[in-house]
Amino acid sequence: MSALTFAGVLHAADAIAGELPPTPSWIYPALNEAVGAQVVVKHENVQPTGAFKVRGGVSLAAGLTDAERQAGLISASTGNHAQSLAYAGRLAHAPTIVVMPVTAPEEKAHATRLLGAEVIRHGATMTESCQHAMEIATERGMRFVSPGDDPAIVHGHATIYLELLRRHPDLEAIYVPVGSGSGAAGACVVRDELAPNCKIIGVQSAAAPAAYNSWRSGRVEQAACDTRFSGIATSSGSQLPLSVMHGRMNDFLLVDDFQILDAMRLFSTAAHTLAEGAGAAALAGLLQDTEHPQRCAVVCSGGNADGSEIADIAAFAAMA
Ligand SMILES: *Cc1c(COP(=O)(O)O)cnc(C)c1O
Repeated sequence: MSALTFAGVLHAADAIAGELPPTPSWIYPALNEAVGAQVVVKHENVQPTGAFKVRGGVSLAAGLTDAERQAGLISASTGNHAQSLAYAGRLAHAPTIVVMPVTAPEEKAHATRLLGAEVIRHGATMTESCQHAMEIATERGMRFVSPGDDPAIVHGHATIYLELLRRHPDLEAIYVPVGSGSGAAGACVVRDELAPNCKIIGVQSAAAPAAYNSWRSGRVEQAACDTRFSGIATSSGSQLPLSVMHGRMNDFLLVDDFQILDAMRLFSTAAHTLAEGAGAAALAGLLQDTEHPQRCAVVCSGGNADGSEIADIAAFAAMA
């Protein structure tokens, strides 16, 4: 049996209820028109850290032992899990370190420091940063928090789908952006319990398809990582999410970075929403999906667009 369960999701929902209110899920006529379906947008861009990952951090913080708090937390991230962990560390009064790849946006590193965590820049890819974080964890006896493979984190992320499917039980498909797959795995667990007929459709960048390749083969695969969008810039699949996604996630679409930019533009003009690239990937997938059903949801997973992303949204909007 998988370590990921619906009971685990309910437990995480209890843990975050006092800290994070449910996020809104809105329907926008101009977006419906552009897509040709009814589209529910689940707004994780309004979380206090600007992305859904804070759910995982708050869920993790609730389950730490006193010894873990004292020893401190360490992880690796391109920026949104970093802010989530910093938020969790502050909540739990645990010293926190995040190793970030040298290519991760400085805006996200800065926001992580402002939440009280130490940021170490090390590694060209997430795989290298993770390796470094694990070495420091062993050296200093800190609790290593795997961004994709920790059940408390995945159960926390899954609470998005608890809120969404309780409010919109008749959805026919939910489009979920995928980096490690923690969100998509959580979506499958909740869907199986609350809305078995609703399809869960993953969307990943064609320029960083490690999770896609893993979903297809059923084994953890590595792949090149050339997307500019940090939230989905992963170079390896993750075992725990894969154990649920493989065989249970209905479909998996790849989109290119221009399609993601176009979805960011559409969010800004049709749904007055600033999404970062990763936050618009699900909408990009829906826009490419010629077989989408009539009642769909997309997760706007984050709003932490950096300066260059915002400039490109503006350029795209002016051209459209
Ligand atoms: C991390 C992240 C993703 C990908 O989520 P996984 O759980 O790693 O698959 C998507 N969007 C944003 C904004 C993220 O921060």
